[in-house]
Amino acid sequence: MKEITNNLNEKIYYIVVWIVIAIMISGLFIDNPRFGEFGVVYIAHLILVFILSICLLLYPKNGTAVLRLTIIIVASVYFYTLFLFYPETSSTFVFLCFLPALSILYFDSKLFYFSLFLNGISIIIIFGYIVLTDGLQYPFIEEDLIGNFFNFVASQIIVYFIFYLTNGRIKKLQIYYEQIQHSERLKTTGQLAAAVAHEIRNPLTVVKGFLQVYEKDSSFSHIQKGHFTLMIDELNTAEEVISQFLSVAKPDKENVTENVDVKLVLRSVTDLLHSYGLLHDNRIELNVTEDCMISANTIEFKQLLINLIKNAIEASHFGDPVFVTAGREKDFVVIQVIDYGRGMSEAEVAFLGTPFYSLKSKGTGLGMMICFNIVEKFNGTIDFQSSIGRGTTVMIRIPAS
Ligand code: ADP
Ligand code: MG
Repeated sequence: MKEITNNLNEKIYYIVVWIVIAIMISGLFIDNPRFGEFGVVYIAHLILVFILSICLLLYPKNGTAVLRLTIIIVASVYFYTLFLFYPETSSTFVFLCFLPALSILYFDSKLFYFSLFLNGISIIIIFGYIVLTDGLQYPFIEEDLIGNFFNFVASQIIVYFIFYLTNGRIKKLQIYYEQIQHSERLKTTGQLAAAVAHEIRNPLTVVKGFLQVYEKDSSFSHIQKGHFTLMIDELNTAEEVISQFLSVAKPDKENVTENVDVKLVLRSVTDLLHSYGLLHDNRIELNVTEDCMISANTIEFKQLLINLIKNAIEASHFGDPVFVTAGREKDFVVIQVIDYGRGMSEAEVAFLGTPFYSLKSKGTGLGMMICFNIVEKFNGTIDFQSSIGRGTTVMIRIPAS
């Protein structure tokens, strides 16, 4: 839990927890009507205080979901125990009303709903018990059962409302934080990539220049010259890759933006990748519902699609199709690349775009980084829906022109 690992927050957490523990302990000894008896009730109370204190103190070092659940359950049992075994202390009813608020502190929505549900069930049982036992010990509830019940319901609604607002705000902040982190990562990698690519291009040019000279030199045999031509070809390919890479890493002013027909580009890209897909018997099925135009750089747009479709093919099982669809949604062109392959976990999806992140033996781990850069350049968004073993849907939205 990030909120508590922060040093200052951790300090505040411990101060609050120690105060809570002190209050719980004083409840055990100061003016406690069961203190003298030292019976089962008192021992149960003592044990609950002990367990709850330990859990609360352990939490910052070991903030697992299991521990959170344990804290909520133990706290519920604790407060209901107080209510049942100290009926003369009527204020414990207030704690019962606000029990689910405890889980709001842990920013765990599942836990909150669980706690709300648990509290609802428990209070119904408690009210049933009071009615059945004629409310002897709880005159303050029995005298206005309905009113008390409504108050309880109202308190749950208030707690829910607080949770709803807090949770919404925190989620927004979290998304914002992730976006900042992501663009920061892209910026650094972009600069790094540009520097590396630039450094590689210079020696390549020198080597290519000499090979071009040797290619024309009559002192080399025919076979040797053939080898030189091959080498030059390979160097040209390498140069091209680097240029593309540089164009993405370093926003190039020469990059012309034009009106691009999405349908045409998609068709040319899927034709290009058709034979690649056939290697594993993966058909690429294209479905463009409307004519869509975007303003973009065609080469970059192709690069984006090639990377995504290639990944989809590489993730697919033998014989499965890869679907590519495009259509309009208000002012956006939406393109989806859908595969039914290996899929990714949430953690894997979060890693996408990190340079050199690849799970493939021969992967470069640069494709997604390039895609993110291009989409950002087009003022678009890219989203992934993926589940392990079921496949992945990549959705790109680019403003239509
Ligand atoms: P590379 O393809 O060279 O590995 P990428 O940046 O294109 O690098 O992709 C990074 C990683 O993201 C891949 O290695 C793969 O594990 C994962 N990935 C990307 N697209 C998909 C997909 N459609 N299905 C499953 N995994 C994917
Ligand atoms: Mg790839």
